[in-house]
Amino acid sequence: MITVEALTKAFGPVRAVDGISFELAEGEALALIGPSGCGKSTTLRMINRLIEPSAGRVLIDGVDTTSIPPATLRLRMGYAIQGIGLFPHRTVAQNIATVPRLLGWPRARIAARVEELLDLFGLPPAVFARKYPHELSGGQQQRVGVARAMAGKPAVLLMDEPFGALDPITRTRLQDEFLAIRRRMGTTVLIVTHDMDEAFKLADRLAVMEKGRIVQLDTPEALLRHPASAFVESLIGSEDRGLKLLSLAGVTALMQPATGWTAEADGTFRKAGADASLAPLSASASLREAASRLVFAGVDELPVVDEAGAMVGAIAMERIIAFGGGGR
Ligand code: ADP
Ligand code: MG
Repeated sequence: MITVEALTKAFGPVRAVDGISFELAEGEALALIGPSGCGKSTTLRMINRLIEPSAGRVLIDGVDTTSIPPATLRLRMGYAIQGIGLFPHRTVAQNIATVPRLLGWPRARIAARVEELLDLFGLPPAVFARKYPHELSGGQQQRVGVARAMAGKPAVLLMDEPFGALDPITRTRLQDEFLAIRRRMGTTVLIVTHDMDEAFKLADRLAVMEKGRIVQLDTPEALLRHPASAFVESLIGSEDRGLKLLSLAGVTALMQPATGWTAEADGTFRKAGADASLAPLSASASLREAASRLVFAGVDELPVVDEAGAMVGAIAMERIIAFGGGGR
């Protein structure tokens, strides 16, 4: 879908972006991650031609973007940035309708799209469609910004620190919502962030940038298990690498058949010979949650249940420890 080849931008003597290459497949989410000033935003802005490259090229579906007029190109690429420029004198609905209107969609289709996005982002149309940006909280404005960027069903969504400048709770909620929406719509995303946890959460692969170059491009698990350099390792945060690894995988990945457990009437489970019964773990839990519960309960095994509360297996601490084990 998007191919970036040896893309370079020099500002005077400074090479803000220095010959970077990567590919973004349809439906994939790739994060550009790295410290402030490493060239993330400049890269993003060369892709939608807000900045013209000094060298290298960008292809969209095999077509060199320099052969596409910038205005046309930008209609095909959603762009959401931190603390964004919503149009202050246009309502929420009008803001979201910007690109569909420029694309000449029929009125009814625009109205349906606006409604769909407001619903998806948890902003009931009856309450929010006619509000103006200044009547919204920071988190609501950010939601509208992302909804606006997605409105025209862009081939790719470019996001530059879209959830920055929000309090941690709102930020987490927006990330969760965005993740669910992206999975549902299959949107192709290129997201810029300096927050490794955000990148791990939202992206399928991460391109770690240092001084204008990509120093490692890998899946979250590969980055955690095999950081290419001390720089990448420091960015990941060496102390809680193990816990981050456990966050990436679900408990069902390591589940075994549950033997010797019986269900109690109150929804808890008792292991044969044990004097206390235990609350089970949900099958949707991560290995990190499983480890936390095991430690807190002070046991080496917990039953796992499905949504209906039926036991589907058991998770053992032993296996969770063996899942790491690369850092000796
Ligand atoms: P990031 O988004 O990773 O924080 P940027 O892409 O914004 O980094 O900037 C990369 C480098 O390019 C920085 O050193 C920045 O100061 C420089 N830079 C960015 N834009 C300009 C510009 N318009 N003129 C001169 N230097 C710039
Ligand atoms: Mg930036």
